[in-house]
Amino acid sequence: MSTLFVRTLRDDPADAEVPSHRLLVRAGYVRRIAPGIFSWLPLGYRVYRNVEKIVREQMDAAGFQEVHFPALLPREPFERTGRWDDYGDTLFRLTDRRDADFLLAPTHEEMFTLMVKGEFSSYKDLPISLYQIQTKYRDEARPRAGVLRGREFVMKDSYSFDIDDAGLERSYAAHRQAYINTFDALGLRYVIVSAMSGAMGGSRSEEFLAPCENGEDTFVSCPGCGYAANVEAMTTPVPDIVASVELPPAVVLDTPDTPTIETLVDISNARVESARADRPWVAADTLKNVVLQVTDPDGTTRPLVVGIPGDRDVDLKRLEAALAPATARPFEDEDFDRHPKLVKGYIGPQALGTERGVEFLVDPRVVDGTAWITGANERGRHVYGLVAGRDFTADGVIDVANVRAGDLCPSCGSAVELSRGIEIGHIFQLGRKYAEALDLTVLDESGRQVTVTMGSYGIGVSRAVAAIAEQHHDDSGLMWPQSVAPADVYLIAAGKDEQTFAAAADLGDQLEAMGVSVLFDDRRGVSPGVKFNDSELIGVPVIVVVGKKLTEGLVEVKARSTGERVDVPIGVAATTIRETIS
Ligand code: ATP
Ligand code: MG
Repeated sequence: MSTLFVRTLRDDPADAEVPSHRLLVRAGYVRRIAPGIFSWLPLGYRVYRNVEKIVREQMDAAGFQEVHFPALLPREPFERTGRWDDYGDTLFRLTDRRDADFLLAPTHEEMFTLMVKGEFSSYKDLPISLYQIQTKYRDEARPRAGVLRGREFVMKDSYSFDIDDAGLERSYAAHRQAYINTFDALGLRYVIVSAMSGAMGGSRSEEFLAPCENGEDTFVSCPGCGYAANVEAMTTPVPDIVASVELPPAVVLDTPDTPTIETLVDISNARVESARADRPWVAADTLKNVVLQVTDPDGTTRPLVVGIPGDRDVDLKRLEAALAPATARPFEDEDFDRHPKLVKGYIGPQALGTERGVEFLVDPRVVDGTAWITGANERGRHVYGLVAGRDFTADGVIDVANVRAGDLCPSCGSAVELSRGIEIGHIFQLGRKYAEALDLTVLDESGRQVTVTMGSYGIGVSRAVAAIAEQHHDDSGLMWPQSVAPADVYLIAAGKDEQTFAAAADLGDQLEAMGVSVLFDDRRGVSPGVKFNDSELIGVPVIVVVGKKLTEGLVEVKARSTGERVDVPIGVAATTIRETIS
């Protein structure tokens, strides 16, 4: 510690919102260069390298082969797959001195596809799985929480290449198992949830989420059947409605000053008899038509109206996932000025639909035969008893309403639970999208050219450091699992006399000789209290104190994570500590 390049901080950095960021900065592991761009200091880089090593070992053990690509890539391959545009503002684009377009790669599907195309031509060459551990660049809209969401970050990305669907299924299973082994070895708790494939295209996809209250992802889990899905991928079960029941005709009523669902429900209960004998009107009886401005990858914009039950909101992450690669934002006043037919606060399905120039999609709960209170397309008026399928039809269904705890499980109908997590890994079956776009074919057994089918698999290596810190810390500091810790033992010389320092140094040497890595707090003139604080902040798994009890021939051995402490005779201290670490 007297020579280590580290300065621990007493106070939390002003810009840190989550514990991992706060502690990684305070303990002297990382420093910020610009939003979403960080450097690693010695302690941090040790943890980072330990994580990287575990990831690499597990990929190698699964038989995947490591290659390495540049981060700086030409535009052309990304043009061919459409991703030069589809990636939108997230892509770092640049030009060279000859005005040729380049990018800093956000992911490498194109390059791996072309690499395999360059080397292989027969079914006999397949299957193959390749990976790299490499720096990625994404101009994230909201870089956040230190290295958890960076604009420069390290990803392990793998790609599998198979001749047919059964092969892809096997490659996917192999990666899934390798991920399980990797995250177990990293000491991360995780759940595997169904996911959307987003801008990547493709079919089956799962995410590994590290449950943690500060996670950006929300997932549903079903205690009934074990179903688990990212909310982005949660499917709303379609209710059974008896469409044949004769419903009264819709009526338009004056509802002055009711631009919100709340005011509408209030006035309805004051003035209109409820259609249900057993209860008054509730927000879920209303159909809320949310207007969005959609931007397609080519830059064109168009309005989209999403009809959802009034007790729900459009979940912007679910919307983003459903519309990708297009993006959307809520309509603003200027947008309404340009679309006078859309009467803000009083929009109803009768004015919507592609024939009328505004695409109209509805929540899966808006099935034929359901009756709604909704806007009458006139200021201060609503229509009661407007029946889906009878009085209006939508252009289609979109499942983007917010998901709530207690919603029904799409697989067994039980009430689901909601939790938050950090996405640490993502595996998915890409299928033939990239192979088709880049013309990756091989000859099959009967001599025909067939298109290769692919999988794509990512682990956030730098993010994993922060995810581990999120799951392993307390108020005093970090608590690294031994597999990734910057050292095995934090050895404190707590005293002023030469004897204490000499005994501690000797114990340190013994430990190092046994293969135990030691961070020796040999600082002179630094109080034991400061050393104790730093030992807890830095978070090495075992803290050994050579101090007062040395006169009795004892040293204190403390487990950082449990706080359990024992006094051990100094003569057997090294072997005892070694055993606890194993
Ligand atoms: P997210 O939903 O968090 O933006 P993603 O779905 O875009 O992630 P993938 O393209 O699947 O991520 O990338 C694979 C892995 O890389 C993710 O599972 C995550 O662990 C990591 N990762 C993605 N974006 C970042 C980032 N900005 N900073 C750090 N790690 C990231
Ligand atoms: Mg993902």
